[in-house]
Order: sequence, then C-alpha cells, then structure tokens
Amino acid sequence: MPVLDKKPVAARINVLSSFLERHIGLNSKDQNQCLNVLGHADLAQFISEIVPADILDSSPPKGSFPEGCSELQALDELRLIAVQNCVRRSLIGLGYHGTATPAAIHRYVLENPGWYTAYTPYQAEISQGRLEALFNFQTLISELTGLPISNASLLDEATAAAEAMSLAFAINKSSDRSRFLVDSDVLPQTLAVLRTRAEPLGICLEVSEPRLFELNDEVFGILLQLPGRSGKLWDPSDVIAKSHNVDALVTVAIDPLAQVLLAPVGDLGVDIAVGSVQRFGVPMAFGGPHAAFFATKEIFKRQIPGRLVGQSVDADGEPALRLALQTREQHIRRDKATSNICTAQVLLAVIASFYAVHHGPSGLRSIALKVLRFRAQLENCLIQLGYSLVKMVRFDTVEVFADNALEVHKLAEEEGVNLRVLPLGASVNDAKGFGITFDELTDQKELDTLHKILANAIGKPIESVEITNFNLESLLPEIPLRTKNWLTQPAFNLHHSETEFLRYIQRLVAQDFSLIHGMIPLGSCTMKLNAAAELAPISWREFSALHPFAPIDQSKGYQKLVLDLESWLALLTGFAGVSLQPNAGSQGEFAGLLVIRAWHKSRGDFHRNVCLIPTSAHGTNPASAVMAGFKVVPITCDEYGNIDLEDLAKKAEAHSSQLAALMVTYPSTHGVFEPRIRDICDVVHLHGGQVYLDGANLNAQVGLCKPGSYGADVCHLNLHKTFCIPHGGGGPGVGPIAVAAHLISYLPGHPLANCGGNQGIGAISAAPFGSAGILPISWMYLRMMGAEGLRQASSIAMLSANYIAHRLNPFYPVLFKGLKGLVAHECILDLRPLKKIAGIEVDDIAKRLMDYGFHAPTVSWPVAGTLMVEPTESESLEELDRFCEAMISIRAEIKAIELGDFDALDNPLKRAPHTLGAVTAEEWDRPYSRAKAAFPLIEQRKNKFWPAVARIDNAYGDRNLVCSCNTFEEFNEL
Ligand SMILES: *Cc1c(COP(=O)(O)O)cnc(C)c1O
Repeated sequence: MPVLDKKPVAARINVLSSFLERHIGLNSKDQNQCLNVLGHADLAQFISEIVPADILDSSPPKGSFPEGCSELQALDELRLIAVQNCVRRSLIGLGYHGTATPAAIHRYVLENPGWYTAYTPYQAEISQGRLEALFNFQTLISELTGLPISNASLLDEATAAAEAMSLAFAINKSSDRSRFLVDSDVLPQTLAVLRTRAEPLGICLEVSEPRLFELNDEVFGILLQLPGRSGKLWDPSDVIAKSHNVDALVTVAIDPLAQVLLAPVGDLGVDIAVGSVQRFGVPMAFGGPHAAFFATKEIFKRQIPGRLVGQSVDADGEPALRLALQTREQHIRRDKATSNICTAQVLLAVIASFYAVHHGPSGLRSIALKVLRFRAQLENCLIQLGYSLVKMVRFDTVEVFADNALEVHKLAEEEGVNLRVLPLGASVNDAKGFGITFDELTDQKELDTLHKILANAIGKPIESVEITNFNLESLLPEIPLRTKNWLTQPAFNLHHSETEFLRYIQRLVAQDFSLIHGMIPLGSCTMKLNAAAELAPISWREFSALHPFAPIDQSKGYQKLVLDLESWLALLTGFAGVSLQPNAGSQGEFAGLLVIRAWHKSRGDFHRNVCLIPTSAHGTNPASAVMAGFKVVPITCDEYGNIDLEDLAKKAEAHSSQLAALMVTYPSTHGVFEPRIRDICDVVHLHGGQVYLDGANLNAQVGLCKPGSYGADVCHLNLHKTFCIPHGGGGPGVGPIAVAAHLISYLPGHPLANCGGNQGIGAISAAPFGSAGILPISWMYLRMMGAEGLRQASSIAMLSANYIAHRLNPFYPVLFKGLKGLVAHECILDLRPLKKIAGIEVDDIAKRLMDYGFHAPTVSWPVAGTLMVEPTESESLEELDRFCEAMISIRAEIKAIELGDFDALDNPLKRAPHTLGAVTAEEWDRPYSRAKAAFPLIEQRKNKFWPAVARIDNAYGDRNLVCSCNTFEEFNEL
C-alpha cells in the first residue's frame, strides 16, 4: 500500500506539475546566490553578457513546441503514442531477431543507473567493472570467431562491415587497389552502408556470388555473409584461399548464434569477422541500439577500429584493465585516422556479455540447437506440403518463392506473425515469396501455427512431420563445425545460479564511479541528469519489441515519435530538416559532410573538396572529413582560443574554388562564444563553402540561440549529451543532423524504409532511424522541459560553469574567457604551471580527485595539461561547492609540495589513487598519513568511494597486449 501523501494539495500539485525543478540542480535561492557571487543582477542579464548580442534570441521557438509538463503527463502522452505501435511476432530476420533478455539482466543492468549513467572508462581505476564486462565481451567474440583481437563494440553490423572495408583498404593503400568484392547474399542494409562509405574513398564495390568473384591484384578485400541473407550456409575455405592468393583481405559478417555451432571463422583463415550481438539478449527496439563486434588477427591490432580493453598492471603490481592502444584513435590521429569511433555501444555490449555469462557455453549451444532444429522441422513441413525449396544448408532462415505468397502473408497476418516479404522491399501485395527466420523465442506452438498457415495457404491438410535425424552433422552437412571446448573462462562458467549472477553483476558495478556517486564534470560531454521518467519508456514492449522492417502500419507510434523529435529539434536549432539516423556524433559529422558534398555535386561543383577545421576541433572532425572524401586544411586559433579570423580569411581565399566546408564547434571547444560567428560563416559562404557546426556544445545554446539562424548550414546534435540519453559507459549515442532547407533532399535514406531526401546520400547506419529504441528518452526530456524549461537549462548550465570558474580561478587560472570575462557552459583550468613549480601533472590531479570521491573532468583536451570542467545544469550548489573544495584542497596539497612539506615524488598526488588494500595494509611506509591518503575530506569517513586498483601503468599494457580473459586451464596455473 502506498503511503498517503500528507502534503497540502497545493504543494502536491506543484510536485506533479514541475519536472523542471527536478532536472535543474540550483533552486531559485541558489541561483541568486551564484549570480550574487558573480556580481550579476539577474539571469537574463547575466546570459546577455555571455551570448553575443547579434545571435541571442530567447524568443520561444516558433511553431508547435510544447510547454513543459509533469512526469505523469508526459508519460501519459507517450503511452498514447506507444500504443500506436503494434507489437506482432516478427520472423523477418535480416539481422534483427527476437530474443529473451534475462530478467536479471533487464533489472540489474539495463535499468541500473550504476551501469547506464557511467562515462566512457577513461579513468580506468574507477571503471574496472565495466572494463571487466567489456573484457568478457571481447573474450566472447574472440572465442566465437577464433580471432585473437576483438574490440569492445562498434555501432552496428553494417558500419562494422564498412570499418572492415576501410581497414583492408588502408592496409593495401600502397598497392593502389580499389576493388572490394561483396557477397550478393549480404544484408541489404550492410550493402547500402558499404556503398555510402565506399564512394567518397573511390572504392569500387562489386556484388556477386562469392564463387564467381573475379579475384585479381586490383582487389584489396572481400566480404562474405555467413549465413547469408537467404539463410544459406556453406564452407568458404576455397574462396578464402583464393582471396589470399591475390593478397586480398577476407572479412566475414557472421551470426553469433550460428557461430556457437560452427567452426570459428578464424580457424578457416579469415582476417576479420564482424556482426551484431543483438540476438544475445538485446531487444530489437525498432533497429537499435545494438552492439556490433569486430575481431581480427594479431597483426592488425594497431589498425583495429574502436575501443580495445587491455590488461595491464597497477602501481602495486596487481592486474588491472584499461583502454589499450589509444594512439590508434581519431583523438590522436585526427585526419590520419582510418576509423572514427568515439561513442560506441558499451551498455549493449555489456548486456550481451552478461547474456553469455548467464547462459554459459552449454546454454548458448542449446539455444542455437533449438533454433536449428525448428528450422529443420519447418523445412520438412514446407517440403511435405509441396513448396519448392532451393536446396541449400541453412541455419535459422528459410526463403521460399511461391505463387501463393500473398495468401501465406495474409494468413500469417491473421495469426499476428510478420514474415519476410520477398523480394525484399516489395509490399505484401506484390509479394512473390516469403521468408521465415527463427530465433530464441521460437517454440513448438509457433512451429505448429506456421505449419497450419502454410498448409491452409496451399490448401492441404496438416500432417505430422517426422523428424528422424537430429544430429548436427546431418543438419549442417559439409559445414565445418565447432569441435573444441570453448568459452571455458571462469566468468562464463561460475555464475549460472541467479544468486551468483546477481552478485557478480553487483561486484562489477560496485567498482564503477557513475552519476549515482557524484558529478562527472566532463567538459564537452554534458553528463547531466538521466531522469528515471525519461528512461522508463524504453522498456515498454511497444518500443522495445518492434522489428525495424515490420510493416509500416505497425510502427505508427515510432513514426509519430520521430516526427515530433524531428520537428522539435528543427525548431530548437533553427533548421528545416532533421535525420535521426546517425548513431553517434561522429557519424552525424560524416553524414552532414556527405550532405554538403552531395549539394556541391548537384551544382556541378565536383572539385570542392577542402574542409577547413580549426586546430582546436575534436578529433572526430578531421577524421570525419577524410572519410567524406575531403582534404583537411587547419585553421589556427588566437590567444583567446577563438578561430583566427585572419587565418580563416586567408585560407578561404587560397582555397576559394575548392572550398567545400568549414567545421566549427560552437561555442568553441575552449568553452567560449566567439563573438564573430556570423563573420566566420559569412567568410565561408562568400567563397562558396558551407558551414558545418559541431553541436556537441548545444547545451549552451538551446533556447538562447539557433545555429540555423546565425549562419550554419548543417549541425549535428548529441542526444547523449544535451538531450539526456545516458552515456551507458561509452554508448549508446544518437547523433542526428539538422540541415537548412537547401540540404533537405540529401538527408540519408535507407533501402528498406521510407526516409531521407529524394536525392539522399544513402544509408549511414544499418537501421532507418538509427538507435530508435532510445529516442523516447529525448522525447520525454523535451516534452517535460518545454521551450522555457530548456532555455532555463542552458542558462543554469552557464551559471554553474561560471560559478566554478569564479571560485577556482584564484587557484587554477581559467584559460579562456569571453569578452566580458565569462565562460559559456564549461571552463578550462590551466594546470601547466603546477608542473614547473611542483612537478605535478594533470593526471596526478585527475587521480587524486578519485581519493576525494570525484570523477575527473576532461583531461588534456582540447589543451594539453589542462582540465575542462562542465558541471551541467543538473548539479546542486552543494555538489558544485563540494567539487570546488576538493580542487582547492588539492591545490593546498600541491602547495605543500612546493614548500617541501611533502616529498616531490612520494606524496598523495603522485601516489593517487589510494585503494582500500593500500591504506589498510600492515605496512605503511609513506611520508603522509593513511587518513590523508584516503579521507582527505572529513565526510568521507561515512561515505567513501574506493578506487578498485591503484594507478595503472598504461605503457606496460600496450607493450604486453592482453585483450581477452584467460581460460580455466591458464586460470588454474596462476
Ligand atoms: C562528443 C563530441 C563529438 C563526437 O561525438 P560522439 O558521439 O562521441 O561520436 C564531436 N565533437 C565534440 C566537440 C564532442 O564533444
């Protein structure tokens, strides 16, 4: 029984009516206090000192932008949208399958803020839990594929295949090869994404039956799909050997569930394996988010795209995990990067890895066998009923072309079942065939239903079908099978009772610092509140259980959700059109640049290929530009951190006839509103270029100014930053692009869905609406905040940032400020002088913050030797003060080093972070006390977050790369 609310009615109504006050950390008293400290009279006046007058426009967005509302009201409205989706049983396959998310994973992982509010594990000492889960993921993939190096997830199967193509292309760069051969049995969305990615790089894609591949020394790689779209399985050994004869790399897109039974493709000699782990417990969610994988041979470990978790040792010699080989990444390599993955799909990879932990090798095998047997029974039914089947070996899918296809589809519809419509992309009324893909959820009842449908459609009686032979060799004749024990590592074998499983999950998550512990003041990443009411709807079946290629009359709710979001985001940014397809900011950049490129081409400007990028830009900017076929020309920044307008004018002039675009982050990555953004845009337009605005910093702009109004042509938004999608420990993300009217017709499309412009750039992601399943989060945020609430959020975000800048400036100088001495929504603290005076590096402070119970701000970006702090509007004054006091206290410790009161090397900063083990050890031989080490703030004696390991040695781990778990045997030897 719920306890009756004893509050007065008026107060209750207030609680119900205002989500805004829950989202924003500073109440009006705190706001006034901050304004006072900063010497400002009121918020609007304060904001007008920050945002340049010629772009400030706080009038409410025109058109139908909602007013804010309560959680209950927004949930009610979203419920009405959700029920317009019609959840049927989808046996469509094509890379998306029904799956049973174990209830324990749903409850303890997917819905656990300890997992979903964590940040990318850069601060490894307080991220050991998800690093271990990702290490398990890499181990799982490595064991499945037989390839030793697996990354910690990619965005989706289609982009993973494109990454494989890029890797093969880069490896063969010197030999001038440009042909990439693709299996005609490839998934249609994979082919579409490959085409989009190949074109700007000058790669020539050829599609055919693999045995007919014309292999020669112009071919740099091939892609096979096993099992194929049609369901076909075959032994690729001869095709692999022939490809290797001409030095072409072999990539295979695989189904992880089939791989459970099949010989690991690595054993057959393939160079790269990619695929999606969606069917390992991750809901279909209308296309995403899901984790893709990418595994390869040892020799390509430096070329592998995405994050790689590796084992190293900590300062006490204990094993510890961290992100390995980071110099491969676009952050470092910029325009030399061969891939561009920043936000990946960590939360989904974690779910899939726990699915494998939950089921273990034998559980996975039972599921795969079940699917295989039902498929074999279905095939028998079809044959017995007289349907004509192409003879081939299959795993889970059967495709049938038949005169009565329409009848089959109709009867299936009556039974609430969606079948694949053949040919792909045809409407049901034009169906010439049907396809059926079984999954984990298939049971005898489902088979009986299908049997009945198929019999009725052909007008024959149902006869029971004898299954005579159920051994694997006869179900998969002439296919190389898995013969050795696999997945013998302890993690996959010790946690099968739910009690053990729960404790394992809890043991891991307890090692991770997330928003449940304190602020994560990460500059540029906007780690704001991820409200429970925003998150709750993603678990509703109407959103989570839809197949992305279900008949469109079943996804009306999603269509409405997409339309609402597109129109709201367009209104907020001042643009005319939006595409929600990109799965990350970096993908949005790539999509936006392709849109610009397509526009230039449509005007006959084929030669426009120069992209101007300020040196302060995020590493994804130059990497995206190169992927889009552009040449990067850097623009310098002046001493205030602004784009050097003279240099811009000079470079724009010099490249005038080839100028394609400028990429500019606004407010700048230095955290200030450059006063002359309009002039910047004008210069670019004058020379025929387009302005691409990196909107990662939109949290300073929403409701205050609109990129589309002050001169930008395209911008991407990070819904996982500004619009409340949680970071998930490094993904999922959503990176939609918004474009001006003249660019709408080039928005990305999809081969199996109606979306994008009429001259669209093709598909960017596997699913038509990208990570559709998490769009309800941003919808809820926008709906509950309303235009006025959003404007307040941006304003308070800037108030909080300036409050911190003001308090810390006397201790750590704020590096860049705007004209009036104010920053925007984040501030850069200059720590470089501390190196000279006390030998203290930025990392020492980042690690020492862990002892104080904080996650470090952004380290050494965009300026080396600095910290970039972004508090967001969601943090309370108390938390802002707690952070400031921790930083000030650390400054006092540094002072003690300066004065010689602390040893220069053996001090609490250099030896941070301090583990429970270290401070409770028998021996303590450090020249500072244990209390000083572990409890620098008095209140920590009651509430202390312990780093799981001491400072990790990154170089050691890179020299001795270990990126999957030991097996039991090896384990026992330790
Ligand atoms: C986060 C960020 C990006 C990239 O976004 P992802 O979703 O991680 O790909 C690009 N630019 C800036 C300034 C960012 O902060």
